[in-house]
Amino acid sequence: MRLANKVALISGGARGMGAAEARLFTREGARVVIGDVLEKEGQAVEAEIRAKGGECVFVRLDVTREDDWQRAVALAEERFGALHVLVNNAGIGAVLSRVEDTAPDAWDQVMAVNAKGVFLGTRAAIPAMRRAGGGSIINISSQLGLVGMDNISPQYPASKGAVRLLTKVTALQYAKEGIRVNSVHPGPVVTPMTEARRRDPATRQLMTSRIPMGRYGEPDEIAYGVLYLASDESSWTTGSELVIDGGWTAQ
Ligand code: NAD
Repeated sequence: MRLANKVALISGGARGMGAAEARLFTREGARVVIGDVLEKEGQAVEAEIRAKGGECVFVRLDVTREDDWQRAVALAEERFGALHVLVNNAGIGAVLSRVEDTAPDAWDQVMAVNAKGVFLGTRAAIPAMRRAGGGSIINISSQLGLVGMDNISPQYPASKGAVRLLTKVTALQYAKEGIRVNSVHPGPVVTPMTEARRRDPATRQLMTSRIPMGRYGEPDEIAYGVLYLASDESSWTTGSELVIDGGWTAQ
């Protein structure tokens, strides 16, 4: 199994890509803590994984709260003995607005979850990874952390661009300690986050027309990339960007 003896913490694991990663990781032998603000959904993912024989526990985690992160990391160590992998996956989208129509509060909200949340998670996990003798941090950015887009609110790409470079700084600062840090850049994926945009025929058509492969991605198509970065198969990979976007950024 590709993650035997690994303990992973996945933020935003109650649904979408985070839940797909929790399912895949436990199938590959990891013990997984999933943290999310959605308690009912998170508990349901925990129950589903345990019913299949996987080791998984849900904890309420608001990624904007430092004390929540401390609790989640402590739970991983108490319950499963260590922390080797952190997937900073939790994120929120944003509706379409041009810069001049974007309220400063809306900017702050997205930056708090998508950018500061990754910083706080990284800060909380590093001491535990040091105790474990090393680790792997995987930060979920976006194809919109690499390129801009006209019909989106500015704070979303800005937050994902911040994640891309926070990844590289963290990778450089902790390389000597065996803590690897990489970013993943999914294109449009079929999850609850994109549901409203997919339901609107014009938006769906616009998004699909920008994907050379002509379709949205599935959560597992991202989860397999995250699995690689979490496993020892990627033992010399740090500070890198794994783009999984159906070709969006190739054009
Ligand atoms: P989703 O909305 O289906 O799931 C995101 C999860 O994060 C939810 O369970 C939500 O409750 C949780 N979350 C939100 N705010 C939180 C907070 N403050 N604390 C803890 N948990 C919180 O979205 P998804 O599509 O699975 O997205 C996962 C990640 O991938 C996000 O970072 C997103 O920005 C990124 N992403 C998504 C797409 C896409 O097309 N779906 C594309 C590129 C990047």
